[in-house]
Amino acid sequence: MHNIIVAFLFIVLSLWTNKTIVAQSDISTLIQAMLDDSPMEADLQYICDAIGGRVTGSAANETAVDWTYERFKSAGLSVEKDTFSMPSLWLAEYTKMNLTGDQSFDVQAVSKYKTPPGKYQGNVVYLGLGTDKDFEGYPQDLSNSFVLVESELCLDINGLFEEYTNAAIAEFNARKRGAKGIIFMSSRPKGLLYRFITAKTADNAMPQFVMAREDAKRCIRLIENGSKLDVTIEVNASIGEAFQSENVIAEIKGSEKPEEIIIIGAHIDSWALGTGANDNACNVSMMIDIARQMTRLGIKPKRTIRFALWNGEEQGYFGSWHYTKENIDELDNHKMALSVDIGSGPIIGFFTNGRDELIPILDSVLLSVDTLGQYLNINAPIVGTDNFDFMLQGVPNLVANHKPSVYGINYHASSDTYDKVDLESLNTNSAIIAALTLSFANMSNQEAELLNRQNRAQVQDIFDKHSLEFTMRMFNVWDPWVTGQRGIN
Ligand SMILES: [Zn+2]
Repeated sequence: MHNIIVAFLFIVLSLWTNKTIVAQSDISTLIQAMLDDSPMEADLQYICDAIGGRVTGSAANETAVDWTYERFKSAGLSVEKDTFSMPSLWLAEYTKMNLTGDQSFDVQAVSKYKTPPGKYQGNVVYLGLGTDKDFEGYPQDLSNSFVLVESELCLDINGLFEEYTNAAIAEFNARKRGAKGIIFMSSRPKGLLYRFITAKTADNAMPQFVMAREDAKRCIRLIENGSKLDVTIEVNASIGEAFQSENVIAEIKGSEKPEEIIIIGAHIDSWALGTGANDNACNVSMMIDIARQMTRLGIKPKRTIRFALWNGEEQGYFGSWHYTKENIDELDNHKMALSVDIGSGPIIGFFTNGRDELIPILDSVLLSVDTLGQYLNINAPIVGTDNFDFMLQGVPNLVANHKPSVYGINYHASSDTYDKVDLESLNTNSAIIAALTLSFANMSNQEAELLNRQNRAQVQDIFDKHSLEFTMRMFNVWDPWVTGQRGIN
């Protein structure tokens, strides 16, 4: 009897070790496949150059949905289009801006998201960085004024975050004071223009613009030298009511625990000043390639892996928000949600989004790719991308952190094109993300138990600990959380 048990244990143990070896060799094989030549770069080039900028609601966005759907399908994956509703249509056409008054000249500018089309006129008031103090120093009526706000040079991702914060403060102040609109100086030189959302996101109705840095500096110098300037603006945009958009979700079913899910994603939509190469076609093509290589190698993950190409991200992560609502009954079984959305610079670690306990798990998972980089995992919560609604729902979630080399300076700008992608790093990154995904999918049940879902109080605790209220207000997502419209209840 005793011997039988010993023999049985031996068999179980050797099976277990065998399985571990198989799993390990799967990961090494996958890493090698990701590093080898693949159609990933050609896919990226197609999305950027042939399809182009992919604003949600545009024909190009629809083409991108269809094309990526077919890419997953021809790689042998089960794939579906996941339809959801966007609150309203807004597709920029053009903005014409010119200054009159003591001097007359044309300037380069673009509208921010949801600026209503129309003709606008007003006097220009320069209010520094738009801080509380700047506004206090100008007590006059602003109802016929466009507030001109300067910006620091944006050199990297910290600069971007500062720009978002300063812009939100200026916007809150301008709204409070009843200003007619805001003109932000571009944070990047040489006439570079870019588009992003206002703090009201899809609810915005205030005309807001980004003006070329050189033009804005000229206006400021003139105003400081005593000139009076008026601005005339003509905005054209296609607008409309709510419309349907689609995420693309492909899947490899788990062989042992199909009900448990690891979801990795990148957003398929972009703004259309450039072609959304670093933001985020590079990581869309990465998702497709990871799925393709796993299928080609016949890898059978223990848990289900879902590959999500999110839509409507730039307007407020509508696609991933929808997914968390649509799959609410399965969220307890979502063991990990990983977003890759900070371009193509080398991956230097991951954001664990307020969950300290993920760091040791991640450290051990990253051992399989320790030859591909050095990783420092940071427990800061990221609000600006598709991990966000998973965080709100208490699902363990990660965002890849990258060296910002190519990201910040081309962010949402006309310069975000294929030639700016760091192809070599994208290739290495794809191996890192593939290995990480498979490791989570093949994790022991014991380890996976640590990846549990948080309750509302625990999620609130993250927001309190990291003082996230301002940042969440900056992206118009604080009230939806407080009222229970978004996130776990
Ligand atoms: Zn993005």
